[in-house]
Amino acid sequence: MLLTMTTIHAPATDLGFLLHKHPDRFQSFSLSVGKAHVFYPEARADRCTACLLLEIDPVAMVRRRGQDQPPLLDHYVNDRPYVASSLMSVAMSRVFGTALSGNCQHRPALVGQAIDLSATIDVLPVRGGEAILHRLFEPLGYEIEATRHPFDEQFPEWGESPYYSVTIRGRKTVSELLRHLYVLIPVFDNEKHYFVGEDELEKLLAKGEGWLTEHPEKEMISKRYLKYRSSLYRQALDSLLDESEQTTSEVSWTPRREESLEASLSLNEQRHGTVLAALRASGAKRVVDLGCGEGKLLRELLKEKQFEQILGMDVSVRSLEITSNRLKLDRLSEKKAARIKLMHGSLMYRDRRLEGWDAAAVVEVIEHLNPPRIQAFERVLFEFAKPTTIVLTTPNREYNIVWESLPAGSFRHADHRFEWTREEFRTWAKDISKRYAYHCRFISIGPEYENYGPPTQMVVFERVSAS
Ligand code: SAH
Repeated sequence: MLLTMTTIHAPATDLGFLLHKHPDRFQSFSLSVGKAHVFYPEARADRCTACLLLEIDPVAMVRRRGQDQPPLLDHYVNDRPYVASSLMSVAMSRVFGTALSGNCQHRPALVGQAIDLSATIDVLPVRGGEAILHRLFEPLGYEIEATRHPFDEQFPEWGESPYYSVTIRGRKTVSELLRHLYVLIPVFDNEKHYFVGEDELEKLLAKGEGWLTEHPEKEMISKRYLKYRSSLYRQALDSLLDESEQTTSEVSWTPRREESLEASLSLNEQRHGTVLAALRASGAKRVVDLGCGEGKLLRELLKEKQFEQILGMDVSVRSLEITSNRLKLDRLSEKKAARIKLMHGSLMYRDRRLEGWDAAAVVEVIEHLNPPRIQAFERVLFEFAKPTTIVLTTPNREYNIVWESLPAGSFRHADHRFEWTREEFRTWAKDISKRYAYHCRFISIGPEYENYGPPTQMVVFERVSAS
């Protein structure tokens, strides 16, 4: 991967002083995972360009992982040698360490001067799409140009990849530009750092000094940079909070921080709350939770007297064990114990125990089913079990683009077999309603974006006749 930096600020060859690398030389540096090269394709008084080229050796990278992990194929065959990732940040600090820290013994006045700079990164993986590029670079005052690459030009049907060529332009000191890139390149990539360690937090705070505190997306940046290690992430937020209190005492950070943390934490609760409300409104007394997982909804159902009979069903015995322990089913009073039962079963097979219930909840389950088997599921639920009310939720794929903590890959969970857009979901639900004589209505769950809709979509089916 290649990082290219250009200035037209005369005399442009000053870039050589600022980077501490002579424009006439081609220099190479050994890294533990490969080599970094610095060279200047052009070095004139009116325009000067420096390149940092990284050559990653995948075998060295695997060896570096240590003896405790057996090497797997994907340790050798992956995108790491070809994309800008945390390895680029490692190379930047090795090769441009002095420039990053903003030192220049020979020309100290030069270092603090903001000049017209541009930087191009080939190739940058951006998890979360182009919107993330704008959200992270624009508050820092950069103009952005991004070209998205298809997976393979020969096979346009494979669609667009998460890889971009990105150029940013702004009036910055060289040290600012390097520090922004050092922190943000791994943030866009959002993969696990190869070198993540306890000192990662210090690096973030040091390289983020003077800009991260003010950045509106500082939470996403810290979270992704520290790759969800929540203890480090919270420490980072606390440190950023201290810093901002010193400089802008009238700005209150605490409520905003809590609000947005809570917002990202509580989607699951919002989902269960909305499902519960729909079940309550249906008047159901006997409810079955299909694919009940670890029993979060069951716990809520148990709290409500309206639900006289509750059944939790899942294909995973392990989940049922966890549910049983969590709800302490073996220690419930006789009266409560008579209200709830768990059963092992699959939504793929007709099961008489699922017949005759007032309502069924199917929360975040359908996307785990294999598409060719969806028809079997439809018959099991709508033709045989046919409860009066069915409340079903599933992710809205359109929202993934704004889902900041979306892991690499296009689905939210490794076990998701598909995710529907709003249109696909509605088409499916309307079609099924017609075929099995149900009415349906749709409800959004979670914060809605104008173009992408909500993170979770829900449908409530009501059976038309009691037949
Ligand atoms: N409804 C729960 C869990 C969702 S995770 C919640 O909202 O928290 C999806 C669940 O569906 C998992 O527990 C998984 O074991 C279950 N599941 C997947 N395929 C299934 C099938 N064929 N039959 C029943 N459950 C299934």
